Amino acid sequence: MSQKRDYYEILGVAKNASTEEIKSSYRKLALKYHPDKNPGDKEAEGKFKEAAEAYEVLSDTEKRERYDRFGHSGVSGNRGFSNVDDIFSAFSDIFGEGTRGGGSIFEELFGTFGRGRASRRGSHLHCTISLDFIEAAKPVEKTIHIQRREACNECRGSGCAKGSTRKACSTCKGRGVIQQIQGFFSLQTTCPACRGQASIVENPCKECSGKGHIYKDREISVKIPAGVEEGMQVRIPGEGEALEPGVPKGDLYCEIKIKPHPLFSRLEDDVVYPLPITFSQATLGDKIEVPTLYGTAKLTIPAGTQNGEILKIRDMGFPSIRGRNKGDQRVQIVIEVPKKLTKEQRSLLEKFAKMEEENITPMRKEFLEKAAILSKEKK
Ligand SMILES: [Zn+2]
Ligand SMILES: [Zn+2]
Repeated sequence: MSQKRDYYEILGVAKNASTEEIKSSYRKLALKYHPDKNPGDKEAEGKFKEAAEAYEVLSDTEKRERYDRFGHSGVSGNRGFSNVDDIFSAFSDIFGEGTRGGGSIFEELFGTFGRGRASRRGSHLHCTISLDFIEAAKPVEKTIHIQRREACNECRGSGCAKGSTRKACSTCKGRGVIQQIQGFFSLQTTCPACRGQASIVENPCKECSGKGHIYKDREISVKIPAGVEEGMQVRIPGEGEALEPGVPKGDLYCEIKIKPHPLFSRLEDDVVYPLPITFSQATLGDKIEVPTLYGTAKLTIPAGTQNGEILKIRDMGFPSIRGRNKGDQRVQIVIEVPKKLTKEQRSLLEKFAKMEEENITPMRKEFLEKAAILSKEKK
C-alpha cells in the first residue's frame, strides 16, 4: 500500500473534531471535487475518493477510535475505493439508509447530479462475525442471519397494485428534482413528493404497502479465510440489498471480531505465549509440552535460558492472509522466583549460594569488576 495521508488532514479538521464538523467538511470537499463538476480531472477524482474514504472511517465511532489508536492499519480491512462507481454504491452506506430514503445527505449532495447509478444499484450491508482466537487459524464457514430489503415479488418492485402503474410526479413534473434558490446559488434538490423517483404510486401494492420492497430474514453462509485479523472485512458479493428486480445487488461486508484467548495473544502472524518456568528449569534446561493453535508441541528449554528470552516454535503461528507463509509461536520465558521454600529447599539453596560465591556467573563477574574499579577511583 502506498503512503496514505492522515484522514483528519484530508478532511481539514482537528483530531477532536465533532461528527458535525467532520460531516460538514466532507460535504464541502465532496461538492468541490465531485466528478460531475470536474469531468476528466483525475486529480479531483482522487481527492473525491480520498475524502470519501476518510469520511467513511471518521464518521463511524468505532472505526474512528481504531484509526486514532492504530492509524491506517487499524482500519486496513476497510475497503478502498477502486473506482468512482464503488464510491457511489458506498454512498448509500455513508449517508444512511438506502439511496432512495428521502432527505438523506446523499440526495442533498448527489441527487442534483442525477448520475442515476447509485439509485439503481442495491445498497451494501454490514455485519460483524465473532471468531474464537483459535478459529482464525483455519478457514472457517459461519452462518449468519441478516434482515435485508428485497424487491417485492408481488409488484416486482414498482409498489403498484396489480393492473396499475406509477404516475408521473406532479410536484417535479416527472423530473425527480426541483430547483431551489439559496442566496447566490441555484440548487437542484431531490423532489420531496416523489423522493427523486420522478413518479408516484397511486394504487399501492397490498403486499409491500406501495414501498416496492419488503424486509426478509436471510441465512447466509460466509467463508472466512485462514489468518483473518480483528477488523478485517470479508465481502460477499451480491448479498446486500436490491430494491428492484434485475438491478445489481449490493454486497455484504462482514467485519471480523476476534475473541481474546486466556493464554495466547497475537503479534501480526505470530502467536505470543508467556511461559512461567522455575529457576532450576531455566538453569538446567528442560523438555516440555506447550499448547499451540494446532495442539501441543514439544519445546526444548536450553540450559541457561534467561528471563524474558523468546523461544520460537516455527510455523505454529497464524497462516498469513496475504501469502503462503505462516507465523511462529513465540514462547516468552518468565522465570518465577519462589516466594516460599521448604526447609530442605532452603538448606539446599544455601549450600548452592555458598558455591556461587566461589564460581561467579559472567554477568555478575563483569558487574563486580566494574564496581571494584569505581570504588578504587573514589579513593
Ligand atoms: Zn409490492
Ligand atoms: Zn417529484
